[in-house]
Amino acid sequence: MTRSATGAGVDLRIGPALVVPVTSAPFLGWVEVTGGEIVHVGPEPTAGPATQTYDAAGRIVIPAFVNTHCHTSQQLGRGLADDVDLLTWLHKRIWPYEVALDERDSEISALACAVEQIRNGCTLVADPGGRHVDGMARGLATAGIRALLGRSTMDDGEGRPPADRESTAVALARQDELASRWHGAADGRLRFSYTLRTLFNVSDELITATVERARTLGTVAQMHVAEIPEENAYARATRGTSTVRHLDRLGALGPDLLAVHAVWVDDEEIGLLAERGCPVSHNAASNLKILGTPRIADMVDAGVVVGLGTDGAPSNNRMSVIDEMWLASIVQKGLRRDPTALPAAAVLRMATIDGARALGLGHLVGSLEPGKRADLVVIDPRTPNFATAADPVSALVTALKSENVESVLCDGEFLLRHRVLTRVDEAEVLAEAAARAAAVRERAGLVF
Ligand SMILES: [Zn+2]
Repeated sequence: MTRSATGAGVDLRIGPALVVPVTSAPFLGWVEVTGGEIVHVGPEPTAGPATQTYDAAGRIVIPAFVNTHCHTSQQLGRGLADDVDLLTWLHKRIWPYEVALDERDSEISALACAVEQIRNGCTLVADPGGRHVDGMARGLATAGIRALLGRSTMDDGEGRPPADRESTAVALARQDELASRWHGAADGRLRFSYTLRTLFNVSDELITATVERARTLGTVAQMHVAEIPEENAYARATRGTSTVRHLDRLGALGPDLLAVHAVWVDDEEIGLLAERGCPVSHNAASNLKILGTPRIADMVDAGVVVGLGTDGAPSNNRMSVIDEMWLASIVQKGLRRDPTALPAAAVLRMATIDGARALGLGHLVGSLEPGKRADLVVIDPRTPNFATAADPVSALVTALKSENVESVLCDGEFLLRHRVLTRVDEAEVLAEAAARAAAVRERAGLVF
């Protein structure tokens, strides 16, 4: 499994480790990287010299995790909305918080969020949209991770903050302008993604135009879909059918639209998602906290591409795909009362290659294969929670914790090396994030 057999040498050689490519069987061996690309994956290293060698004896090398739903601008709002219902959460807590954020807050929020993602082995996030995209983009570019960036977009409906009210044409034009600025920025790590908040707040004209633009740009559009039963009731009242059926009728349901949450869908709608190739972002923790539990194992069985997501700090509190893997697995087993539902291998795929496919980036990242970008994680299993595991691959889902994440590469660059962040002073970032979080709470009148 070598891309070039020239023997000319490689930039980085990692091994000997248990290599888990995800798309093929695990084996003991090596991963080699040149120019940010995986050039060799195999039981023996290539013959040429390596500029750098990473001694990974006793370690596990896996593709970096993909977080398909990550509100990076909500990182300063952690704990702002515990134990409240969805509409209180949104109207009384999140919207005031978002209106109070300035551009520098958004930058530090995104940076602090990215630091948490890196510590949890994740190098690609899909952000469903904030207000200060320039700030978010700068924070993410500083951190060095990949991201689909979006601008929170609403052109219709009741209850929106005055600052968020804009026409369909303005909502689209502002996104076009951001796309021209950020799509492909930071050496291609940043991509723009058109977004739709929820059916409550978007017109049909905006839905259709958004998906068209995403197709043209070659990224997915992101939309919160079928979050609560009331949303389907609203869809029936205003559009004559449920959210998923209505999106299909508009021609919006397909590989270019990431359906986030998809909690309240019936058998026919699961069939539609599968048939149209419309991917789903599953957010096990925030769903359980606020929305309900979707039939994810049934969706996977039906052939829907499902990725995992953390959602935002106020709706989950734990921003870790590692935690989401464990929760997704155990909740589906309980929901079906079937311990064979959603086995570890399927969940690991959701957290890696299927997440990448859900974001339209399965050709680029999500597995360890020659030709893909070198986004990978070195796992140190020598901790009390992991060391005795019978099956280390299964344990990646059932036992893994953030403390097992030893090193993280994105695009061939170490963002975490032997548990130290390489690009930023972590203590400084977290101190500024905490101070800004307190100031935002004060400005938004969210002091409890
Ligand atoms: Zn969301």
